[in-house]
Amino acid sequence: MRHVIALDVGGTGMKAALVGADGGLLHQDRRATGRERGPEAVIEAILEFAGDLRAHGEHRFGEPAAAAGVAVPGIVDADRGIAAYAANLGWRDVPLRDLLSDRLSGIPVALGHDVRTGGLAEGRIGAGRGADRFLFVPLGTGIAGAIGIDGSVEAGAHGFAGEIGHVVVRPGGTDCACGQRGCLERYASASAVSQAWALAKGDPDADAADCARAVAAGDPSAAAVWQDAVDALADGLVTALTLLDPRTLIIGGGLAEAGDTLFVPLREAVRRRVTFQKLPEIVPAALGDGAGCLGAGLLAWDLLAAAATPPAAGGSGATPADPATPATPATHVGPNGPATPASPATPTTPTDLSEVTT
Ligand SMILES: [Zn+2]
Repeated sequence: MRHVIALDVGGTGMKAALVGADGGLLHQDRRATGRERGPEAVIEAILEFAGDLRAHGEHRFGEPAAAAGVAVPGIVDADRGIAAYAANLGWRDVPLRDLLSDRLSGIPVALGHDVRTGGLAEGRIGAGRGADRFLFVPLGTGIAGAIGIDGSVEAGAHGFAGEIGHVVVRPGGTDCACGQRGCLERYASASAVSQAWALAKGDPDADAADCARAVAAGDPSAAAVWQDAVDALADGLVTALTLLDPRTLIIGGGLAEAGDTLFVPLREAVRRRVTFQKLPEIVPAALGDGAGCLGAGLLAWDLLAAAATPPAAGGSGATPADPATPATPATHVGPNGPATPASPATPTTPTDLSEVTT
């Protein structure tokens, strides 16, 4: 059975899957990243994991994986297949795509940024399914973002697009590791809420999940901490939606697990702030911590779809329901071609702009 390898490399653990043509997970596995053993050992652990997955697929499905997709943290040059920098793994300019392809007998490999890859999955097969424009914002240790446009995710000119966590929402405010002050992630990440709640409660072990529970139970001091985070988040999100006009705003990460405790006040806070902007639908992420791995699978299938020249050859299993994938000129894509289309065709807009009144 035709399948691909999907691998999501995190700071502590790696998640992997073999994904079928219909997007189904045929096999799932996890391993420790083992970063305490150093950057070289992490690379070897990834290659070994990928090799084992290939062997498993060949044994179980009668053929080895046709392609592989890998999501990694840090700064990623997806076009060249290089993990340019990852502070938590100690990486600098690791040619991971070629290393993996070599280990996997030359199959095409796509390398992606973890958040953008997770966002790709949320946008296509998760909470944003069917949305032509979305913004995915995971609220975890920090805050990142993925800008979805017509079935792919915008990386920016230098791979930094979507870093909404470093939009300044409180000028002159709390110091951020990025060197700026008052960044959104210092107020609305799960870590920031944990810190604020630990301080308010005088309990160093109190965290964001405790805070959410206390808010739901009607604790006024928790409500104050929570509302500060919600207000900061709404300020950041309104900046983003003013620039991007997304149809769907997908909020994920640990803080989103608070459910309505977060989403009810957040929708209200965003609604109060917009004037002329169209309110996007604000929804919780649907894929949880499996998003990165599912997105890696999509990257791999995208590579195969781009390499297959005649678009009519649908066969038994076309790629997962995805009407929004832009047509990619196959001539620009070699066996290890870019994971993202070099120049997605601009869709023609049927709307007559002269009729739009302002
Ligand atoms: Zn910052």
